[in-house]
Amino acid sequence: MDMKISDRSAYIVLVIEDNPSNMKLVENMLEMSGYSVLKAGDAETGLNIAMERIPDIIIMDIQLPGMDGLTATGLLKKDGTTSHIPVIAITSFAMKGDENRIKDAGCDSYIPKPFDYREFLGVVESFLSKEKDK
Ligand code: MN
Repeated sequence: MDMKISDRSAYIVLVIEDNPSNMKLVENMLEMSGYSVLKAGDAETGLNIAMERIPDIIIMDIQLPGMDGLTATGLLKKDGTTSHIPVIAITSFAMKGDENRIKDAGCDSYIPKPFDYREFLGVVESFLSKEKDK
């Protein structure tokens, strides 16, 4: 894989995911690549962390207990302190029409489950590279 980022530990990735095994998988993929990872098991916790820590990118599960990931993304994109943060949705139900729903909510991209390791990291990296170029 063509890596453009030299020091990934400088990047904070916030993962909002309620499924423990999915969370572990995503955390492992990110940490093995060297990223700094913050975790939240629900949208409300994730929003609080996002406001306090201003991560470089957010990985957002769509189906969450309580507030869903699309609603949470809408709130992040409406708030001036977090609106610039790329939000990548992760979803196991990417059917026709879902892609529009995800984009309409303000998500910058989405990755279908089950994850392809290289695709997942490639998408994350592509958004961080864009940030870096600004
Ligand atoms: Mn979920």
